[in-house]
Amino acid sequence: MIEQPRLGDLWGRIFTGTRSIGSFVNGKLVEGEGEPVTLVDPASETTLATYRDAGAALALQITDSAARGVPAWQALTASARGRVLWSIGAALRRHLATLAEMEAIVAGKPIRDCKVEVEKVAEMFEYYAGWCDKLAGDVLPVPSGHLNYVRREPYGVVLAITPWNAPIFTAGWNVAPALAAGNAVVLKPSEFTPLTSLALAKLACEAGLPERVLNVVAGLGAVSGQALVQSPHVRKVCFVGSVPTGKAIARAATETLKPCVLELGGKSANIVFADADMSRAVQGAQAAIFAGAGQSCVAGSRLLVQRGAYDRFLEAFAAASRRLVVGAPLDPATEIGPIATRQQYERVDAMVAAGRAEGAEVIAGGGRPDGLARGFYFAPTILAKATNAMRVAREEIFGPVVAAIPFDDEAEAIALANDTSFGLAGGVWTADVGRAHRVAAGVQAGTVWINGYKTIHVMSPFGGFRQSGYGRSSGREALLEYTQTKSVWVETAAEPPKGFGYAPEG
Ligand code: NAD
Repeated sequence: MIEQPRLGDLWGRIFTGTRSIGSFVNGKLVEGEGEPVTLVDPASETTLATYRDAGAALALQITDSAARGVPAWQALTASARGRVLWSIGAALRRHLATLAEMEAIVAGKPIRDCKVEVEKVAEMFEYYAGWCDKLAGDVLPVPSGHLNYVRREPYGVVLAITPWNAPIFTAGWNVAPALAAGNAVVLKPSEFTPLTSLALAKLACEAGLPERVLNVVAGLGAVSGQALVQSPHVRKVCFVGSVPTGKAIARAATETLKPCVLELGGKSANIVFADADMSRAVQGAQAAIFAGAGQSCVAGSRLLVQRGAYDRFLEAFAAASRRLVVGAPLDPATEIGPIATRQQYERVDAMVAAGRAEGAEVIAGGGRPDGLARGFYFAPTILAKATNAMRVAREEIFGPVVAAIPFDDEAEAIALANDTSFGLAGGVWTADVGRAHRVAAGVQAGTVWINGYKTIHVMSPFGGFRQSGYGRSSGREALLEYTQTKSVWVETAAEPPKGFGYAPEG
């Protein structure tokens, strides 16, 4: 039930006639059958709502329902599918304010960030709408008398599992390309943040998406999520989340040989050379680690600063960080909201303590900000005198905490950046254009920014190297992830081939 009045009102604007949170299947909400899940407001620590985990049996039924939705979706022409996707984008734009508020309340993200994220999701549907009738196969000049052509076919049912730090954003970047390629989708959002994913599915149905083509399972990862990965109806798994869960999902998917896309965590290096524009680099370093309260997979959580500029850079960075506005998610002035869950808040706190114990010096933040007695608020925190061997430099913290590490030269900067098990992203700040490109090439990560940080766009591929995962979201590459290729051979010879006729004529 929706208990929190303002949230109930928002919910009512999309789900009129029902006050229950459940899973979305066949165009309607169905109450879960599993144990209760409580949504806690990260800004006030009060209960927002409770709902029941879908449970394994219902989750399986939903994959069956999705499989039965595939023929209707594939029966549409590619252009018609594109029009539906475009309409979904338009619906998202119409409901932008409601969706952004819902996201801000449940995930604790600043409202101004949520508005941008919802707009980006609309853009994802618009971008892939344009791709629907351009996803063509190939005709290959095989050296025989055959016509050989390659079709790009959808998998059927794709499972998308998403995290709590960017709920509607990660839903969009999985769902839009999967639908564009002709798949039905079962979306399993984090148990902590299911609402905007449910709203997205409802709006998509109203925008003309046939029922059963987009379904949402609201529930626990270890119960509903696990059942979904094992379902025989699911043909591909696209997972966005932590490394341990990604490994568990990849292992489970192997049982039925389902291919996966894994978008996992990071420990990205943001490298500042002494010749960089310092004020822009300070601003960029803040965006890199403090946006989203550091709960970002690409967070620049290791700040590498060239030794000659280390002290002056950190002084300016600490002063700027103390000026950031930490506050309530719905306040338009807020730049940093609370951490999304108590469990995550406690982990961030424990990691800062671990940094101190290993000899790092807290020069900004370090705990709860003054004047915010309730809520999972954590001040922007800078750990100076850090080394790359410390836990704070090796483990993903997923909070507003940066480890600042000095380096001497380009070779050491690249070596430090790559001395990690992850490979999601990185940044380099320098006035030397040659060095900028050398470092971008040398850093082993799926995304590198030069004199900037954090820009991503649906047109450009996104994904990890090494333990940050494999496969790509966004761009044309994501579209291809949701297709499998089929080679078709057509005999065109006038006479029957000699012998068995299988060998190419050469
Ligand atoms: P998580 O791994 O705990 O959970 C992610 C999702 O997996 C949730 O929906 C959860 O319910 C589900 N899940 C958990 N156990 C499961 C199981 N056994 N079977 C099936 N599903 C299961 O991650 P989180 O704490 O929600 O999110 C934070 C993590 O996500 C961070 O590590 C962050 O870096 C990562 N992330 C990565 C990207 C990217 O694109 N690379 C983007 C955003 C977040």
